[in-house]
Amino acid sequence: MALGSNVGDRAAHLAHARSRLGALPGTRLVAASRVEETAPIGPIAQPPYLNQMVVLETSLSPAELLAYCLAIEAERGRERGERWGPRTLDLDIVRYGKRSVREPGLTIPHPELPNRDFWQREIAELEGKHV
Ligand code: AMP
Repeated sequence: MALGSNVGDRAAHLAHARSRLGALPGTRLVAASRVEETAPIGPIAQPPYLNQMVVLETSLSPAELLAYCLAIEAERGRERGERWGPRTLDLDIVRYGKRSVREPGLTIPHPELPNRDFWQREIAELEGKHV
């Protein structure tokens, strides 16, 4: 799961996400990458992001996990404005084991994975930790 924030106390938003994700039913936070600062992507001028990749072990289905993610984003005051726009907290399911999911509103692996060097770097870092 990828965590991102570029509004307000970015580190606090990421910390909230880590603690909430690790406390979801049937879920454990197994590992977390370093937090990195990255330049915003896309056409809108906005502040830099803090990003982090975490590994969860979970018995939740992908759709259940996504529903919790949307609720956790909302807890941090996330407003869904423009696509690619600034956000207090963004949670993306990047991979879910070896599974592929294609449902309305949910694609796994996340379609942006090939385009985001920092996600790939963070995953490599986690794989180095023998997750
Ligand atoms: P965003 O503006 O990037 O936060 O887009 C969030 C929306 O993307 C969610 O409401 C999901 O329905 C959809 N979505 C599709 N695939 C994924 C995924 N793998 N992880 C998170 N959100 C996803």
